[in-house]
Amino acid sequence: MNVPEPLLTIVIPCYNEEEVFSETARRLTAVLCDLAEEKLISADSKLLFVDDGSKDRTWSLIAMESTKNHYVTGLKLARNTGHQKALLAGLDKAKQKSDCVISIDADLQDDVSAIREFIKKYHEGYEIVYGVRHSRKTDTFFKRTSAAWFYRLMNQLGIRLVDNHADFRLLGKRALEELSRYHEANVFLRGIVPLIGLRSAKVFYDRKERLAGETKYPLKKMLSFAFHGITSFSVAPIRFFTLIGFFLFFLSGIAGIYAIIQKMLGYTNAGWTSLIISIWLLGGLQLMGIGIIGEYIGTIFTEVKNRPKYTVDIDLYTERLTQRSRENIQGTTAVGRE
Ligand code: UDP
Ligand code: MG
Repeated sequence: MNVPEPLLTIVIPCYNEEEVFSETARRLTAVLCDLAEEKLISADSKLLFVDDGSKDRTWSLIAMESTKNHYVTGLKLARNTGHQKALLAGLDKAKQKSDCVISIDADLQDDVSAIREFIKKYHEGYEIVYGVRHSRKTDTFFKRTSAAWFYRLMNQLGIRLVDNHADFRLLGKRALEELSRYHEANVFLRGIVPLIGLRSAKVFYDRKERLAGETKYPLKKMLSFAFHGITSFSVAPIRFFTLIGFFLFFLSGIAGIYAIIQKMLGYTNAGWTSLIISIWLLGGLQLMGIGIIGEYIGTIFTEVKNRPKYTVDIDLYTERLTQRSRENIQGTTAVGRE
């Protein structure tokens, strides 16, 4: 029986990536060409670049490339919404046409030659293929240690993550359908994908240095990412504070009895040190506890609003170019940016 080759879409979120775009498009096009020639994927496979509200020429480069290279297509988000949501926008869109989707970062720190292995696993019947980093030699010391801590913490909180796996993965059509049933506003794909289940495999590769440009994940974004990752998956921090609360309550009971006995025996002293220490300790603990509870309330707040996660401005993937979007592209390519 002649089974048609699967249509693959590679989704690449881009935020201010004008420096790497051309090289990335070139390398990924070469990968698609090779795979299509070997009949591992359909010749209609695509590279879907998602422009996450870039402030530089990224979108005009994507739009221009799409007129020259039939593999390249793009999706322009109306503003910057962050890596995870940009990725999700791409996955949602790609799902409409593809049999399987691979997501990869625009800086190609992940090894493109692993894509062939992904496809082979897909042909073997795996619905989810995780790209796992062998080594992070090229990452900075800070990035390496902070990532290691993050994975360890998540593990201890009982959040099942695939170690050393970021957002380089293949999802088959079934996995994508399942993924779209997760409606949470705080998307943390690394946590959600393992929850889907389905047959999964791992492919190992070495992580490289960024092709060019600098990281789009400064410390502030990284911390907020880690926090959302934790608070949208685990209530362990809240429970931790409840336990501490109980423990302190118990302890203060004992201390109270001790203080009364001392008083009755006439051994009272000024007690300034213990007083000031306990004020600070308890004050600090309470504030921390309230802060953490606040985080959860914040998460609930964004979830109940159920706002759309992103707005698509221009869609070159499914729609034919309308007159207006054509003008828009010409506008951005001719005038550049504001
Ligand atoms: N990115 C995005 N929106 C953002 C920040 C980043 O789409 O607000 C994209 C970025 O263009 C890249 C990917 O997410 O393709 C990962 O970012 P980066 O490589 O800077 O992160 P790092 O590898 O340093 O963690
Ligand atoms: Mg990177």
